[in-house]
Amino acid sequence: MAKAYKAEYIWIDGTEPTPLLRSKTKVIPAGQEPPIWGFDGSSTNQAPGRASDCVLRPVAVFADPIRGGDDKLVMAEVLLTDLSPHPSNTRSTLVGVSDTYADQEPLFGLEQEYTLFKGSRPLGFPESGGYPGPQGPYYCGVGQDDIYGRPLVEAHIDACLRAGISLSGINAEVMPGQWEFQVGPLPPLEVSDQLWVARWLLHRLGEDFGISVTLDPKPVRGDWNGAGCHTNFSTKEMRESYDAVIGACEALAKNAEEHVHNYGFGIENRLTGLHETAPWNEFTYGVSDRGASVRIPWQVEKEGKGYIEDRRPNANCDPYVVTRLITRTCCEALAKP
Ligand code: ADP
Ligand code: MN
Ligand code: MN
Ligand code: MN
Repeated sequence: MAKAYKAEYIWIDGTEPTPLLRSKTKVIPAGQEPPIWGFDGSSTNQAPGRASDCVLRPVAVFADPIRGGDDKLVMAEVLLTDLSPHPSNTRSTLVGVSDTYADQEPLFGLEQEYTLFKGSRPLGFPESGGYPGPQGPYYCGVGQDDIYGRPLVEAHIDACLRAGISLSGINAEVMPGQWEFQVGPLPPLEVSDQLWVARWLLHRLGEDFGISVTLDPKPVRGDWNGAGCHTNFSTKEMRESYDAVIGACEALAKNAEEHVHNYGFGIENRLTGLHETAPWNEFTYGVSDRGASVRIPWQVEKEGKGYIEDRRPNANCDPYVVTRLITRTCCEALAKP
């Protein structure tokens, strides 16, 4: 056995309006757990230069599928030097909500859409400029005229599964160069930690393929689908009763504005009412309706139990924030007195 292993600490920075992922490597003696560590917050929009130290506390550890062996990926949260949560730390607020409603057993499945770029053009868009053929053949397509970037996408699903991330599937999306992977169903903290690490792996593998990955919610203006992060949600009660499914939709209706303003920067550009979205400033729900804010899948109506799909979150959303809001809004409404 090696005398030491490499731990890649991954954290979320303070870039506004949409934070970036950062990471660096710590060599740790074999047999030791990843300890608390630190970084220069003045280089990540998280601290002024004269008091630059920020603290990294490990919250979830995965096998490192790229380096292999005993090496690890360490998702970390950012703390101030007094070990209280840094203002950019949205995970710490989720912990409280997740504890409060743990008895309702909330589960989430996140559908992360993303777009692959070569230089300034999405993969599949002609390098000479102009546009590919209109949307139609690309979603779940096959063949080199319609599909772009599959080697990276395949490397990513393999890497996630080797890491121990609960991917439930992948598919090619409606715009060329656009793809999706799904994480879950899992409780709010687990699904969010795993989504952030899966995002990191995608960016990291993109380096090896010479492809950049963007979570931009509207990477191409005009008649091209945006990129979302549909958020599927259930509680134990919803998994047993249709009344609870409707109750969750009604609760979301009452808090629609607060949710939509925290579902990722630039949401008005994506939730236009076109391209399988509902307008950002209206709330609707319906069975099988991909033009509604929240969709009840047809099997859920048929079986009279299951889950709902909040279609509003952007691809660039923070899953710690999205799962906190949905858990709080729905579980508060469904709680038994
Ligand atoms: P679609 O593209 O048709 O909207 P997907 O298959 O991409 O659907 O995603 C559905 C997601 O719903 C998956 O991530 C799955 O894990 C999740 N899911 C399934 N059942 C539940 C449930 N009971 N609670 C929460 N999420 C669920
Ligand atoms: Mn999907
Ligand atoms: Mn999709
Ligand atoms: Mn969906």
